[in-house]
Amino acid sequence: MRCGLCVNSCPTYLLSQSEPESPRSRVQSLRKVLSEQQVLTGAEQQHLANCLQCRACETVCPSQMAYAAAFDQAQNQLAPSQASWTSRMGFALIDHKHWRQTLLPLLTLYLRTGLQQPIRASGLLKKLGLAEAEALLQSPSLSPLHRLYPIKKSRLRGRVALFTGCLAEHFDRPVQLAAIKLLNALGYEVVIPHDQVCCGAIHQHHGRNPQALLAKNAEVFYNLEVTAVLYSASGCGAMLSEQLAPDTETSGWLLRHLYDINDFLLQHWPDQLRLAASNLTVAVHEPCSQRHVLKNQHNLYLLLGKIPHLQLTAVSENTICCGAGGSYMLSHPETADKLRRRKQQQLSNSGADLIVSSNFACRYYLNASQTDSSLKVLHPLQLLADRL
Ligand code: SF4
Ligand code: SF4
Repeated sequence: MRCGLCVNSCPTYLLSQSEPESPRSRVQSLRKVLSEQQVLTGAEQQHLANCLQCRACETVCPSQMAYAAAFDQAQNQLAPSQASWTSRMGFALIDHKHWRQTLLPLLTLYLRTGLQQPIRASGLLKKLGLAEAEALLQSPSLSPLHRLYPIKKSRLRGRVALFTGCLAEHFDRPVQLAAIKLLNALGYEVVIPHDQVCCGAIHQHHGRNPQALLAKNAEVFYNLEVTAVLYSASGCGAMLSEQLAPDTETSGWLLRHLYDINDFLLQHWPDQLRLAASNLTVAVHEPCSQRHVLKNQHNLYLLLGKIPHLQLTAVSENTICCGAGGSYMLSHPETADKLRRRKQQQLSNSGADLIVSSNFACRYYLNASQTDSSLKVLHPLQLLADRL
């Protein structure tokens, strides 16, 4: 319709105030590729590449324009850009668990032995194109999670599995432990299969085929004899919910048994389980994957309501991306950083004591440049588990 209702919802338009950086313009480029088989100009391709794929434009469009689906379809028809060696290395690490496990102790040494400062100062990271990625490094947890977190048989209500994907086990350990603590308290033993793999979201964003990863995860979880598979990162959940094939046995099973852990806890919360009160004022940063894809953010507010006296405060521009955008923080560091600063200002203006967010990438990115400890972003599960 070209009505323009989506224009002001778009982060790249808000920053640039330029029509070619708006969804309306990008949709026209997609139409040219998909309906008219036209070749895009270099500038048009660049404007498409600048898109965060946050999908805020989908949420507001009165025509229910399926932007992400069109974008993925068009991406397959555009000439593939030559992947840099750093990007190839990143995908290799995501795809090969044993390579990650080899690298983790080296990364820990690098971060903890004082090597970081001289290597940064040498300029080597810039020359290798690794400066942006290096600035985001955070210390990993080295030991693996256990395969099973049991509870006493007398309290057992069921057995569920946790989806940790490729990074959460080592880079989001406090959240995984909070999830296990809460699930155990509700009467569920927790299984964490070590052969699960990445959800494939980053692959999808880069025009790579995620089907092998989806099929592998479906097979791994199908064989576990659990009643539910729970994810704590809304980005992974959005990917799995949309891309798993409903009509094959293992993928269809995973799709039917897949839940956002926030939703699962809310649905299965026993009346007798009371949490300790808190006087904190908390702001909820709503990830794009939660707000524009899963559309279940309201359940999170209800779940946080289980903490007596907790105050929830509004954040303005909660519909706008924080800049993380999957791997956007690495591919477009300057735009991503502008969006992060804008988000941090909004979060600061909310006056909250603490921020919570249900997506790993948002928390990781917002915390990576955080000097103000009151703006630290936790997963809501950490807050809930702390009040048990
Ligand atoms: S994508 Fe939707 S909201 Fe945007 S201009 Fe087209 S019809 Fe309007
Ligand atoms: S997905 Fe996000 S960045 Fe891309 S056009 Fe839509 S609103 Fe803009």
